[in-house]
Amino acid sequence: MTDLSRLVRQNVLKLTPYSCARDEFSGKDGIFLDANENPFGKLNRYPDPYQRELKAAIARLKNTETDRIFLGNGSDEIIDLSFRIFCNPGKDKVMLFPPTYGMYSVSAEINDVEVIAVPLDDEFMINMTDVRPLLKNEDIKLIFICSPNNPTANSARQADVEYILNNFNGIVIIDEAYIDFSEKQSLRALTEKYDNIVVMQTFSKAWGLAAARVGMAFSTPAVLSYYNKMKPPYNISSINQEAVLSALMNHDKFQPVINIIKNEKRRLISSLQMLDNVEKVYPSDANFLLVEVKNATETYTKLIDRNIVVRNRTALVKNCLRITVGKKTENDALLKALKNS
Ligand SMILES: *Cc1c(COP(=O)(O)O)cnc(C)c1O
Repeated sequence: MTDLSRLVRQNVLKLTPYSCARDEFSGKDGIFLDANENPFGKLNRYPDPYQRELKAAIARLKNTETDRIFLGNGSDEIIDLSFRIFCNPGKDKVMLFPPTYGMYSVSAEINDVEVIAVPLDDEFMINMTDVRPLLKNEDIKLIFICSPNNPTANSARQADVEYILNNFNGIVIIDEAYIDFSEKQSLRALTEKYDNIVVMQTFSKAWGLAAARVGMAFSTPAVLSYYNKMKPPYNISSINQEAVLSALMNHDKFQPVINIIKNEKRRLISSLQMLDNVEKVYPSDANFLLVEVKNATETYTKLIDRNIVVRNRTALVKNCLRITVGKKTENDALLKALKNS
């Protein structure tokens, strides 16, 4: 059993959260004279602080319960909350496996949390030989595992993740932002087996709702109770909740779009591999490709000149570009520009 009273910061354990007017609100009808709102207008009411309707729809989709779901203003809010719940600034540490998503270390720095970096091995897998001796370090409170990983596009081994869950006394956060593009199974089921895991997913990628800023965290009700305690009361706007709800109501449109992107990805991989400038296209479980070229910075600049923006990741993986799979016309333009570069 994970001892949350040891892991959670003292000030968070003691915190009396802001009690908002709508904490008990669940219906839509009634005379609301409790929140100092303007009675006129279309967006005049505060949103449901616990997003009950949206969570019920997500629970149905994911076959889970609403108290095993937390929603953040994007995954970015969930990442930041994780630091603020579990890490004492200037004292506690986080373990990261670079090259990985940049927000973990930025959020660590903002919260004055030291990063213990254990670089991925040559195959972009977690380097377990280096990780094992660090798992007993009591100052490390969080470990982030991005799977499929940004920018390497591959997935972590489930056996490595489970070894870490079994041997680490802190919280393990699995970031599955790209899971809907992957042929591999989500590790979300592990939230039923372990009590020190948080699995994050998002509406920003496969669901095509990056503008709505809605990220999901799946964990035990006990762990999520601290996220609910810490979050700003109305962290997801009504407009954004409705945008996601409407996408969930039109769920039949989801898989066809994913299939188009997956087909384009296959076409992009084989076309890229035929180009002289391309040294290697790494295997991808996501909707982007890590592509090694002869000179990443030169290629990046040439693409910019043609109004095509990719991500130059040469500082993370030498001479690599991270290229998002776009629409057919966009991918064709990219291929044409690369052919002439
Ligand atoms: C894009 C991305 C996210 C999504 O973040 P949101 O704040 O939900 O938009 C999360 N993690 C990784 C690794 C990503 O690449």
